[in-house]
Amino acid sequence: MSNEQLDKLRAELDQVNLDLLSLINRRGQLVQQIGEVKEKHGMNRFDPVRERDMLNKILEEHNGPFEYSTIEHLFKEIFKMALELQEDDHRKALLVSRKNKPEDTVVNIKGETVGDGNLHYVMGPCAVESYEQVAEVAKVVKSQGLKMLRGGAFKPRTSPYDFQGLGIEGLKILKQVADEFDLAVVSEIVSPADIEEACEYIDVIQIGARNMQNFELLKAAGSVQKPVLLKRGLAAQISEFINAAEYIISRGNENIILCERGIRTYEKATRNTLDISAVPILKQETHLPVLVDVTHSTGRRDLLLPTAKAAVAIGADGVMAEVHPDPAVALSDSQQQMDIPTFEKFMAELKKMNR
Ligand code: PEP
Ligand code: MN
Repeated sequence: MSNEQLDKLRAELDQVNLDLLSLINRRGQLVQQIGEVKEKHGMNRFDPVRERDMLNKILEEHNGPFEYSTIEHLFKEIFKMALELQEDDHRKALLVSRKNKPEDTVVNIKGETVGDGNLHYVMGPCAVESYEQVAEVAKVVKSQGLKMLRGGAFKPRTSPYDFQGLGIEGLKILKQVADEFDLAVVSEIVSPADIEEACEYIDVIQIGARNMQNFELLKAAGSVQKPVLLKRGLAAQISEFINAAEYIISRGNENIILCERGIRTYEKATRNTLDISAVPILKQETHLPVLVDVTHSTGRRDLLLPTAKAAVAIGADGVMAEVHPDPAVALSDSQQQMDIPTFEKFMAELKKMNR
């Protein structure tokens, strides 16, 4: 084949590419117009029967040189492109995404503005055990100049025979102590039915790792205006975590704080594996504040400070950790809670980081 012939064929091929391009775009425009008509008539945009029809017509006309399966695959892709064009804006840019809202969301919790670029701390016992126990921790939280007091009243425990928490009684203790020390209460709620009543006692609804995909709970938390602290699921991918937050915001509540708390991996040296890179990813992809829970991610007291430093260094909006007056006798998570002197040292070290 002479060079001249080759050049001619190539020029023809280039033209075919351009023809295909303009045909594909012409098809796209038609699909958009059809979409508009369908929307006007309240019709569903995706019509599988119509797709099958179109595909059959194409395959009937087809006579080589490509395999039928290749043509079928190719056109299915073309159909898919059209469907993406028709998708509504939510599918393209989630409400929690930076694409949708470039500026940071700042969640105001009794004057504590999480997401404002400063560090914020959520500290307190794993579970509410008694008034005295919570008050002792609240006192030191207050003396550290912190605002947010955590404590579980509804404890989602692995074993049904383990301490399940004091329930509403526990929330009442938290509120009483928080009022006395002018603190804000962060506490986990596990059932949609409890949200309304719990809102009388707490300032932040925590949704725990085990409930990250409890969609009814997410919807219920999205239907109130209380701030929500949403923890990453035990084995949740970041996209699943983001979609869980989308459930909340889509119901109208945009006061959401994300919390990376480690995920399950094959590693046994720590209780979970702290996915520290999730922090900048979540900060890039969403406009929501991101905390790191160093207690449940590591499950190890000796790792609380180094991982908290990592969280601060990587740009987290704050740190969550557990503090108990006497961890050895705690009714849950006794291995990993800090006692009060350890907590004071922990805070002193973090404050040195000066962010
Ligand atoms: C908690 O913070 O009390 C807790 C149970 O954590 P997680 O849901 O992350 O396991
Ligand atoms: Mn705990």
